[in-house]
Amino acid sequence: MREFFHAIKRDSVLVSANADFKTTKPSYGFLTQHRLNAVLPVLPSRPHLLSDHIFSNKARPIQHPDSFEITLEMMKHDRASSPTAMETDIPEPYQKIIKFTHCDVLRNGKIIKDETLWVRGGKIVDPAALFYGAEHGPDEVIDFKGKKTLIAPGFLDLQINGFFGYDFADIPNIETSLEVVSKGLLKYGVTSFCPTLVSSPAEVYHGVLPKIAARKGKKSGHAEVLGAHIEGPFLSSQKKGAHDVDVLRSAPNGYADFIDCYGPTLEEPDSAIAIITVAPELEGLHACIKELKQRSKIVVSLGHTKSNYKDAEAAVAAGASMITHLFNAMEPFHHRDPGPVGLIGSSLQNCPVDKPFYGIITDGVHADPSSVRIAYVAHPEGCVLVTDAISAAGVDGEIFTLGTMTVRRKSEVEVVIDGTETIAGSVVTMPTCIKNLVRFTGCTLAQAINAATLHAAKCIGLEHRKGTLMPGTDADFVILDGFDEKDPSVFNIASVYVNGEKVEF
Ligand SMILES: [Zn+2]
Repeated sequence: MREFFHAIKRDSVLVSANADFKTTKPSYGFLTQHRLNAVLPVLPSRPHLLSDHIFSNKARPIQHPDSFEITLEMMKHDRASSPTAMETDIPEPYQKIIKFTHCDVLRNGKIIKDETLWVRGGKIVDPAALFYGAEHGPDEVIDFKGKKTLIAPGFLDLQINGFFGYDFADIPNIETSLEVVSKGLLKYGVTSFCPTLVSSPAEVYHGVLPKIAARKGKKSGHAEVLGAHIEGPFLSSQKKGAHDVDVLRSAPNGYADFIDCYGPTLEEPDSAIAIITVAPELEGLHACIKELKQRSKIVVSLGHTKSNYKDAEAAVAAGASMITHLFNAMEPFHHRDPGPVGLIGSSLQNCPVDKPFYGIITDGVHADPSSVRIAYVAHPEGCVLVTDAISAAGVDGEIFTLGTMTVRRKSEVEVVIDGTETIAGSVVTMPTCIKNLVRFTGCTLAQAINAATLHAAKCIGLEHRKGTLMPGTDADFVILDGFDEKDPSVFNIASVYVNGEKVEF
């Protein structure tokens, strides 16, 4: 096998295997434990990938002009045995190393005081794995000495219907909407989101999902589109909220109805869909949830539902792992039949999760602060802040659209379906949701930020990439200052980084 091994420092080695190392970007792992002897072909065109002491101590040129022979004791590539294993692209050409220092860092849910954060090539990196970090040091140091600063993961919003006058359900303009919203959200610290679609006819999904698929993933200077959150159309007409009752349906043909509705993206490995909200009590839905979870990683969330507790519990046993905007558009908690809300107090056995995650809108309109507090106390690790924002957010004006509905701004904080008192999404921003969670529950700011970062990433299975600031994850983060010792909910977003690059807004 033509393997391309290169670079070693103490107990680390960079490894890649590919037939064509002239055109392939190598990846590297940080390795420990096992030793072996190896012969390493290395392209001289990439000598910077080797630290000096390898050349001086361990390598000797051989006849072939395109390779060196390096015989050395090195660590075996065995990521499974390595507790510090990480993998990332080696930036090519060289990309600078940035060190943020004398700041607090919210890493994997915990604040680490007076820490440093290293960034390179769009990733958070472990300085021990920066094999030439010691020789060259960082290219840029951003020192916060003397100013209380917290670096936290960028916020994720798993439910957002639009913003800045744009509605994701406005299908012909979906590309423009995604462009505008994914740029505009950065100033609120949101670096990833799930564009959310209200219930629509099948042809709408067939038309729009490929456009979301095309937009999915990273784009320089934009919040990342993680995949769509599809609310409906398998929802209860009795809990329709702002959804068009004429397009709601059940699934008498089982999973075939899901395929008919959403199209082939349902089963693609990197589906355009991240989350589907369903009412589990509808005909055929239990089987659909089960089959969908067997076939894909799409998160099934329970919402807009008349479900009782038993049906909700059965849906979790079938694979549902989230509740959509807890308290809203579902049966209220009753002590003899707590409905879906009861799941946050459950301890389910033999289910994929013992308690599901729950999205919650802490705008003070969708749920009373005391309800938020009860939910948070019952299941803090499951709390996922979502804005459920609509096109009316972030702009002035009175009349907007949400899918086929006309909605009216009733107050600074409330939008309703025009001519009714039915709440139609929100106009709240994620920083306000975080601040309100602190105010409503008395949790710490770090705990509230976790509900917008770590929990959201875990909820959709992306914690290896988002929401933790662990080595190897994406360098999407917010730098917060302006704290108030008397009021733990107060903070200011000083700057936002996406892919390790500071963004302008
Ligand atoms: Zn909804």
